[in-house]
Amino acid sequence: MTGRIKLLPDHVANQIAAGEVVQRPASVVKELLENAIDAGATHIQLIVKDGGKTLIQVVDDGHGMSPLDARMCFERHATSKLSTAEELYALKTKGFRGEALASIAAISHVEMHTRIAEEEVGTLVRIAGSEVEDQQTVATPIGTSILVKNLFYNVPARRNFLKSNSVEQRHITDEFHRVALAHPEIVFHFYSNGSELFHLPKANLRKRIVHIFGTKFNEKLVPVSEDTQVAGISGFLCKPEFARKTRGEQFFFVNNRFIKSPFLHHAVMSAFEGLIRPDTYPGYFIYFQMDPASIDVNIHPTKTEIKFNDDQTLYAILRSSLKHSLGQFNVAPVLDFEKDPSLDTPYAYQGRSVSQPGISVDPGFNPFKGSVAGKSDFKQVTKQAWEALYVGLKDKESDAASTVEWESSEEQKALFQKPDAAEAPTVQTFQLKQKYIVTSIKSGMLIINQNRAHQRVLYEKYLLELHQDSAVSQQLLFPLSLSFSKSDMQIIRSMKEDLLALGFQFGDIKKEQLSISGIPVQISEGEVGIVIDDLLAQKKEGAVRKATTSDLLARTMARAMAIKNGFSLDAGSQQALVNDLFACKESAVSPFNKNVYVVVSERDIDNKFN
Ligand code: ADP
Ligand code: MG
Repeated sequence: MTGRIKLLPDHVANQIAAGEVVQRPASVVKELLENAIDAGATHIQLIVKDGGKTLIQVVDDGHGMSPLDARMCFERHATSKLSTAEELYALKTKGFRGEALASIAAISHVEMHTRIAEEEVGTLVRIAGSEVEDQQTVATPIGTSILVKNLFYNVPARRNFLKSNSVEQRHITDEFHRVALAHPEIVFHFYSNGSELFHLPKANLRKRIVHIFGTKFNEKLVPVSEDTQVAGISGFLCKPEFARKTRGEQFFFVNNRFIKSPFLHHAVMSAFEGLIRPDTYPGYFIYFQMDPASIDVNIHPTKTEIKFNDDQTLYAILRSSLKHSLGQFNVAPVLDFEKDPSLDTPYAYQGRSVSQPGISVDPGFNPFKGSVAGKSDFKQVTKQAWEALYVGLKDKESDAASTVEWESSEEQKALFQKPDAAEAPTVQTFQLKQKYIVTSIKSGMLIINQNRAHQRVLYEKYLLELHQDSAVSQQLLFPLSLSFSKSDMQIIRSMKEDLLALGFQFGDIKKEQLSISGIPVQISEGEVGIVIDDLLAQKKEGAVRKATTSDLLARTMARAMAIKNGFSLDAGSQQALVNDLFACKESAVSPFNKNVYVVVSERDIDNKFN
């Protein structure tokens, strides 16, 4: 009787093992680029066709391989980087398993030219599906060129599993970014389907980031630098105001190797807490230098996840050093609005008295249009309006406040620049957790969410302004140039008429570049990008909801400009906000349909003491 167990033929075993290393063309790109770096290359070219499905080539000027090594390197567990298991823990190079080339050669057609400096001529090796087809001596420059064609040609299931060329291309570009960011000292060229996507000269890190992601990044970056016993931390953060809805540029590197770490990402997010909106992500490029013995890179086959021996300490160090940079470069909001009015407050503040800064603004205020104020529909908030809340609450408990009536076309006066007893009642307020404004009302206690309240106030103000006959535009001295994806540009084009009506002015609208020469007076230059990003996000998710562009814009701007939770407000600001809120048409819900405040009735409080 023959046994059931058979050994798999070598080529099948190789194909199976290859699956672990090579998931998609981008994995090949990563392995080849890392090998080139390990070989000490100073210039690296990456050439791909059809999202890497037909061709991936990496050419380097590193130390190359001898004829023997040229043949050996395709054997499984062939590596020049490791000979004892202990060395694994002290590793400084990128590769160490000696699996990449063997895996790649098992599932594609590979052609390699390589030469070491000591030899006059080099070696050419051709392999297909692990079979060496050809090895010969050739004239070739010092260094190595590896060409990988027809990936997964012999594993149709894997090949069919690949995504479209553009998706695979995007994965390759991501991988390229990671490697290029880890090595600003290396010159990179990247060609796809015959056109040059990137030419990155040797540079410092800041310049490398700018070369990859565009000149607009230069002003966004804040340096990070901290030296501790556990790790050296360096790199850059993007200023909080550039946080985006979509996850974009978030990079961690440990000893110049890109890694993913939800854990450390959390530390970054916590350093940004209160500085950015909860649904946005800050950009970061953070580099750790650590003793290789204090990490374990070997836990993940593609090596993008690693284990830190002392992750709690690292978390704390990272968080505090980021906070330190944010503070040091003065990008953290100052708690007192008066200290830096231009930072987070969207409107002209200067000249207000220190004791009563107020967070309200005269809705008629418009530096470009002196006469608007008189025509404004804004209700003058009087004692009655505020009292209506008391009355309403007394009669109908909680939600009656939203029925505070909106009276139009009353004569416009300055609103709450200096709330005083004659204009509006001085309410006793206090701020809770830098988030809520609490005040006592007849029926009990009113707890207002400061962020939502301010959103509501600004939303109504902007809506009104945007509906005035001709929107007021502020000309920019230097047109802003913003880049968007092609699909986003399509949306922008479709909204163009509305945006013009709202005060935007455009120069060139190119395929992926938008030049903006004028913006609505309600927003500042620095906020344009955020507002447009936000507008796009809402337009995409709200395609079904029928909202006009001006409504979307008003909402978007209100959300972008509203004071965030986590800001402390002085008494004057708290009162002004409360008064402005109850001057709104609809004070109970935010422009995004969330409750602005809750009422805790006296009875509820009494019950707690029973
Ligand atoms: P690893 O990088 O884990 O050692 P690889 O399969 O990626 O395994 O590479 C096997 C060996 O081939 C490397 O250890 C190295 O000696 C050699 N090698 C691969 N690529 C290059 C290159 N571009 N230049 C010089 N040597 C290379
Ligand atoms: Mg390798």
